[in-house]
Amino acid sequence: MRAAYMYGAGDVRVIDVPDPAVKHPTDAVVRVIRSCICGSDLHPYHNKPATGEGTSMGHEFLGIVQDTGPEVGTVKPGDLVIAPFAWSDGTCDFCREGLQTSCRHGGFWNAGDVGGGQAEAVRVPLADGTLVPVPGIDENSPLLPSLLTLSDVYGTGHHAAVKGRVTPRTTVTVIGDGAVGLMAVLSAKRLGAEQIILMGRHTDRTDLGREFGATDVVAARGAEGIAEVRDLTGGDGTHVVLEAVGHMPAYEQALGVVRAGGTISRVGVPQYEQAPVGFSTLFGPNITLTGGPAPARAYISTLLPDILDGTVNPGKVFDQQISLDQTPAGYQAMDNRSALKVLIRP
Ligand SMILES: [Zn+2]
Repeated sequence: MRAAYMYGAGDVRVIDVPDPAVKHPTDAVVRVIRSCICGSDLHPYHNKPATGEGTSMGHEFLGIVQDTGPEVGTVKPGDLVIAPFAWSDGTCDFCREGLQTSCRHGGFWNAGDVGGGQAEAVRVPLADGTLVPVPGIDENSPLLPSLLTLSDVYGTGHHAAVKGRVTPRTTVTVIGDGAVGLMAVLSAKRLGAEQIILMGRHTDRTDLGREFGATDVVAARGAEGIAEVRDLTGGDGTHVVLEAVGHMPAYEQALGVVRAGGTISRVGVPQYEQAPVGFSTLFGPNITLTGGPAPARAYISTLLPDILDGTVNPGKVFDQQISLDQTPAGYQAMDNRSALKVLIRP
């Protein structure tokens, strides 16, 4: 089969690799019908050392089950399934607590002998715990882009809002107008927030953010951006800040716009290990710092009904569609910001 591999920064190739096959009794093999490129794929696209050895890519996909091991019970060949960005058993204590990203027996795509979603097919470990079948949807459904967001970005935006404890009584700032930031806006709106300030500089993206529920847009960054958010909130900042970027300036921005007693919820993968947490930043004003990788698997059943009945259309974040062989160009488009999020149709 064909699969996208990354060989180093800026070096993505689509190559021939062996077809995946059931290896363990709890595996399924899924033929990928839609996958995509994630903002987090851009981190290795910038930093990955060129070792000569490629790594499979992609952690968001929808597919059709092709084959299952003898112990798989909840999905069968022919089922259309959503794969979250981590695989998990669904039965351990962490999974039962809804934290499938910490599953005692789970893991992530593109590690060890598990491939990735930017490919024609994937071997899915622990298929019963990992995959969510969507009955009544076929592979030509116009809902596929929105269903694909449940693999990662919509679940991640929702996780930001849940960890930030967004309610109808909270005001919210979202930092970042990438796909996750826009999903955080949609999620804050879904949880009832009345004021949602989106900080982002790309008008086409912030326009979509307004469509998803942003009440205000602040394009300025740094001290000027902080001052604008404070102006919009009577000088105080917002109860909740959803940080969907991951770089230090975004964290500093969050510190600048959070209200005393408020919460900073981070879902942008932090590209730093050290950050201010002392008296003048978090401690003095009683700020809660939270967030982390979203247990996307836990949220699929919560978020799915609104997609199926058309209440929300998170699939609008996909503004470019390519074939699997065009994946290298898709990375370029995401990297140079000419695409918000690229959908791959193998
Ligand atoms: Zn588990």
